[in-house]
Amino acid sequence: MAKKVLVTGVTGQDGAYLSKLLLEKGYEVYGTKRRTSSEIAWRLEYLGVYKDIRFVDLELTEPHNIFNLVQKYQFDEIYNLAAQSFVRASFDQPLYTADVDGIAVARFVEAIRQTSPQTKFYQASTSEMFGKIQEEKQSETTAFYPRSPYAVAKLYGHWIVVNYRESYNMHASSGILFNHESPLRGEEFVTRKITKHLAEIHYGKRDILELGNMDSTRDWGFAGDYVEGMYLMLQQPKADDYVLATGETTSIRDFVILAAKQIGFDIEWQGKAENEIGIDCKSGKTIIKINPVHYRPAEVDVLLGDSSKARKILGWKPKVGLEKLANMMVEADMKWAACIEQARY
Ligand code: NDP
Ligand code: GDP
Repeated sequence: MAKKVLVTGVTGQDGAYLSKLLLEKGYEVYGTKRRTSSEIAWRLEYLGVYKDIRFVDLELTEPHNIFNLVQKYQFDEIYNLAAQSFVRASFDQPLYTADVDGIAVARFVEAIRQTSPQTKFYQASTSEMFGKIQEEKQSETTAFYPRSPYAVAKLYGHWIVVNYRESYNMHASSGILFNHESPLRGEEFVTRKITKHLAEIHYGKRDILELGNMDSTRDWGFAGDYVEGMYLMLQQPKADDYVLATGETTSIRDFVILAAKQIGFDIEWQGKAENEIGIDCKSGKTIIKINPVHYRPAEVDVLLGDSSKARKILGWKPKVGLEKLANMMVEADMKWAACIEQARY
């Protein structure tokens, strides 16, 4: 009989890639949507898996939703990917973020403990928990120092998973994932914003790409590689926590240069801080400006992951490097920007 799996947040970037992987492996995939979800289908349709998902309703702030779902279906595996995932928004919605990204995780593990103890559980933890970094390369043993309500909430989710694993011998694992991107990345995140807006500028549909702090650096990988790591964690005889990362870190400014070059722009930078601008040397036009509205009350300056544990125990490693990742995103956004009939523009 096919294994039954629940993917919360199936309408998001990782949910789409993970459900495709699990369907290929022969799982019966249940995916959660909420009544307020607007564009349920686009990512799943992009990957050609929409029709194969069994949708179930889930609002994470409703305790009974979680309890009933866990009890009713007796899943073999649950991947909890649903979250308020945007760091900037968590500063404006700290309590909601605490509930969805923190407390809801406790609802899951408690529901599993009470009603479906055989279910294996994956929690989407994050490198943002390292925040103001305490070690040059961050691994499973690096001390956490969260710098946003998002990271604080995720830290609660992370520790409640560790606590239930240790208290009740549950198969509950956390993946501490560094930033991972793709053509399906939400448009509010910086890489996708950069490739989408630059593609629109190329096609004359936008004049300016507005950014915040371009000096921070991130360890960016490809989402398709990272969902393989999530799957591998739940196939281990014992649950544990694992960092997934590429081991390279790049500034936002350098990602802009990379994506711009792939589109055919040649950027020259002028000015400093809030007055910095990026000029396309070919057209002479200013196409990049700073808008302080995108600055954060507290910033995570650098993230750089050490994923040796996952490489050794899971046999996991990222296959897609940054240049190829940027290229995948640029190609997709150029296609979307070129297509005037596309409903999303
Ligand atoms: P997305 O923002 O693309 O997807 C988030 C998903 O959560 C969506 O399906 C969304 O549904 C759902 N969701 C949000 N709020 C609720 C709620 N109250 N009730 C039910 N569902 C809800 O995130 P990603 O796919 O990029 O990330 C997946 C997970 O991994 C998240 O938990 C994120 O925090 C974490 N993570 C991501 C990293 C990354 O670089 N991508 C790095 C480290 C961790 P809807 O479509 O209705 O909005
Ligand atoms: P995060 O690492 O989860 O916060 O991922 P983001 O993609 O949202 O942000 C990565 C970094 O890019 C952070 O240091 C942001 O401050 C920086 N950044 C600079 N400009 C922007 C912008 O316009 N939007 C976003 N989302 N981030 C920006």
